[in-house]
Amino acid sequence: MKIKKEYKTLIPPLSPEEYKYLEENVVKDGVREPLVLWGDVLIDGHNRYEICRKHGIPYETVNKDFKSDEEAKRWIILNQFGRRNLTKFQRSELALKLKPMLAAQAKERQRVYCGNQYDKKSGLPQKSAEVQKSETREDIAKIAGVSRDTIDKVSVIQKKGSPEQIERARTGGKGNSVNAIYTEVTAKPKETKVCKKCGNEKSADEFYVGKNVCKQCLIEQRKLAKPITDFKGDVVTIMDDKTKNTDISDIVDSLYDADSPVELTSDDLSEDIMHVVSNFTDNIDRCMMEYCVTITEENGKKIKTALAAAEAAIQKMKGIINHE
Ligand SMILES: [Zn+2]
Repeated sequence: MKIKKEYKTLIPPLSPEEYKYLEENVVKDGVREPLVLWGDVLIDGHNRYEICRKHGIPYETVNKDFKSDEEAKRWIILNQFGRRNLTKFQRSELALKLKPMLAAQAKERQRVYCGNQYDKKSGLPQKSAEVQKSETREDIAKIAGVSRDTIDKVSVIQKKGSPEQIERARTGGKGNSVNAIYTEVTAKPKETKVCKKCGNEKSADEFYVGKNVCKQCLIEQRKLAKPITDFKGDVVTIMDDKTKNTDISDIVDSLYDADSPVELTSDDLSEDIMHVVSNFTDNIDRCMMEYCVTITEENGKKIKTALAAAEAAIQKMKGIINHE
């Protein structure tokens, strides 16, 4: 007896539990149905054959004749449908394995049909390719015992699904139906955006419409921002008016342009200069106290040069303010 890997792997393997159950039955009651051979090649009963060899159990065989390798495969698949409880996806997967054979048959039917209709016509009309495709699809659906729509969806899952999704589709059950997995496979990836401030890639709903800075960063920015003042300089308090059901974040968002830096006023500038000045005078005082040097004409020049540099910085600043 010969084992052909192509036939053995054609059908989905038994689960470990199914195999154990079969093994127990064969050991207890022997093989009830004979193994099917085509010539000396095993067509049906791969698992039983394996168990019989392992335990030294006798078995019977019957011979079946097939016109072609494809026909043998078709028989193996249909035989499995009758015997095992397979999910819609598994049935479709198996039937789709017959696609090359079914497509060839459809082509042959079309050739004979066209031959009768248009005698000696060479080459098939373009439309025939579509007819063949549709017929093949119909044949596959019939064999699997599912709708044509299911066959189409299974084809898409086979092409685009991850190995994990395909395995779940085979298992079936809640959330793993052909429709559910198809929806998963064809779902558009969630839109994401990179926040200009924190640089994190976040989903689009983490952003206000039209903003390039995420909501989280806007909230942080709001905490650091100076109070908002009106034209008189009074601080404006933004109330979260719950009765109007207004989103406080939206109000704050409309007051700040998150994409441009916070604008600094002349108050900020003079404040900063005052800070530099106080640092400067403090340091000058410290210098004069720490360095008890005798100032001569020679070293006095050096100190004056340093002071002139400080003076120049102030003059430059004054120049900018006077001219602008
Ligand atoms: Zn951010």
